[in-house]
Amino acid sequence: MRYPPVYFPKQMNVFIIECIMVLFMSCVTIRTNLCSPNTPSLKTLPLDGHFNFHEVHHAARDFGNRYQFLPVAVLHPKTVSDIATIVRHVWDLGPRSELTVAARGHGHSLQGQSQAHQGVVINMESLKVAQIQIHTGSSPYVDASGGELWINILRESLKYGLAPKSWTDYLHLTIGGTLSNAGISGQAFRHGPQISNVHQLEVVTGKGEVVNCSEEQNEDLFHSVLGGLGQFGIITRARISLEAAPARVKWIRVLYSDFTAFTQDQEHLMSAENTFDYIEGFVIINRTGLLNNWRSSFNSKDPVQASQFKSDGKTLFCLELAKYFNLDKTKIIDEVSNAMAHQQPVNFEILNDLVEFSCNLTEIENSLSQLSYIRSTLFVETASVLRQRLKYFYTNYKT
Ligand SMILES: Cc1cc2nc3c(=O)[nH]c(=O)nc-3n(C[C@H](O)[C@H](O)[C@H](O)COP(=O)(O)OP(=O)(O)OC[C@H]3O[C@@H](n4cnc5c(N)ncnc54)[C@H](O)[C@@H]3O)c2cc1C
Repeated sequence: MRYPPVYFPKQMNVFIIECIMVLFMSCVTIRTNLCSPNTPSLKTLPLDGHFNFHEVHHAARDFGNRYQFLPVAVLHPKTVSDIATIVRHVWDLGPRSELTVAARGHGHSLQGQSQAHQGVVINMESLKVAQIQIHTGSSPYVDASGGELWINILRESLKYGLAPKSWTDYLHLTIGGTLSNAGISGQAFRHGPQISNVHQLEVVTGKGEVVNCSEEQNEDLFHSVLGGLGQFGIITRARISLEAAPARVKWIRVLYSDFTAFTQDQEHLMSAENTFDYIEGFVIINRTGLLNNWRSSFNSKDPVQASQFKSDGKTLFCLELAKYFNLDKTKIIDEVSNAMAHQQPVNFEILNDLVEFSCNLTEIENSLSQLSYIRSTLFVETASVLRQRLKYFYTNYKT
């Protein structure tokens, strides 16, 4: 039998095209998770929010950018019951099922902690069941969703002259995300980490039950979930302790090149009486021009000396300190000018504020004089709390 000479190559071409098509289709199927064995059962779940089976790639990334586990679906919950429904579904599938669930806050973890390989990622920021509720009074607190960002808690609480007692440096993190870790910043030496400043939690347990817990109620669950890395339940609501926000802050940064001097000063300040309200130390490896950015956000006490400080390539240790004041500068200026204009004595309360302010300044000067930082690196700034923090976020983290 004779075949036309072109027949074999044609047949081959068709075969190759077919292979490419099959490969392409399977890639599409894998990338969009259309043929995952879990997809059909998820589609039947009654939800107020919705699953997304297509746009899942963002949930396979985090700030660390080291691990990428593609989930089968991302749940955008509208209600706490949506979260309970998916967790209960996974529980009902039993231990043989490989379907896993991970809560994702703002995705700022470093090692894939908020990812779920072929599982379901719950986008906690979609959970806006109730507004942030501030409760004023002698022991103020805030009630907020586990997916709420700390920056929003701060903005809202400042409207009432209040602020969380314990913060993180960076506030574009969720309540659930930091309470699953610890939440540490310069207030922790006084108030403990953020997990020590929580009154109550609402949690979806591993069986999909919605449970309230606190020191008094379901104590084990409360202590397991706080700092529990998302393994003991999903925080859907938290009640967090607040305190009066200072009107102004004196913010100080100094540098050390000697680690022992740095830690000794830090320990000394933390154990001293009438010390700063915020004490935090961190390491700077000045390879990337970071120090220039760092400098640009502060007023040097001595710009000439500061410009002579050679730091390129050095490992430095930064001590960051803050002292809070409740001195309302505008009010004082108004009161004093008013009294002078009417040739009347200045209000006693204002005089008291002024005396307290100058005493605090003297205390700060005294404390600083006892430290052994590199003298030319002293940077001091006084500002209102919110302006100060926002400036810091945008200078240091542009995410
Ligand atoms: C730029 C930057 C600055 C940082 N600054 C600080 C700092 O100053 N102080 C500090 O302590 N930490 C800091 N961190 C670390 C940060 O607090 C943690 O990585 C935190 O987990 C991130 O919160 P997130 O909302 O992004 O959570 P994600 O990264 O989304 O999740 C983190 C973990 O919490 C779990 N989780 C998320 N939401 C919930 C929930 N509602 N219930 C139960 N589990 C949940 C996740 O499953 C995961 O295991 C910083 C991180 C970055 C990237």
